[in-house]
Amino acid sequence: MVWVLLGAPGCGKGTQANMLMAQSDMKSYSTGEMLRKAVAEGSELGSQVKSYMESGGLVPDELIANVLAARLEQDGIGSGVLLDGFPRTLPQAQLLDNMLSKNGWTLSGVLYFDTDEALILQRLGGRLSCPGCGAGYHATSMPPVKAGVCDKCSADLITRKDDTPEAIQNRLRVYAESTEPLVAYYQQQGALKNIDASGNADEVFAKVKAVIGL
Ligand code: AMP
Repeated sequence: MVWVLLGAPGCGKGTQANMLMAQSDMKSYSTGEMLRKAVAEGSELGSQVKSYMESGGLVPDELIANVLAARLEQDGIGSGVLLDGFPRTLPQAQLLDNMLSKNGWTLSGVLYFDTDEALILQRLGGRLSCPGCGAGYHATSMPPVKAGVCDKCSADLITRKDDTPEAIQNRLRVYAESTEPLVAYYQQQGALKNIDASGNADEVFAKVKAVIGL
């Protein structure tokens, strides 16, 4: 019912979530997208999280868990939910456990997109994002049809503020310190599904489909 997508920034989990949504009835919830939207709208949540995000740091655990819980409890989990970017710390994983048991939802598994740092740096370096619909591109490995323009909604593509070299370094450090321990946490629970994320998007997607039985 609920799948967690886990991996370093730039591992391709957002791309895989979008591919899964296009080929199934599952819905993806990207906490990063939710927060970017709040910042773009200038909402109270947006002003609370803006500085954490721009530096590549993490927003407080309870805050992001409450934002996600509110959305999931409002929408329900329908034919299945993909969590892209949550949990990112051990306390968040425990908050997710509580959220699942409170609502009678089950964790189907954790897709862990395993990749190495050199590849991550190369991917984040050329990353382009659509501020309109959240679609992701890469300058060389996954370019849009028309340079600089989103294939899906025609908005002008941007480089995210947290894809600058300093913020990328910070995000990788934060990932190693705070998020990587989740690999062992979910391995102990028997929930971890290891996916070699070093191929192109289609190759990785074939592995994802095999794991989730699509
Ligand atoms: P992402 O699009 O997943 O790379 O997220 C972009 C930024 O949003 C992160 O660098 C964090 O500042 C913030 N963020 C997204 N998800 C979380 C989360 N689960 N916990 C804390 N901060 C988050």
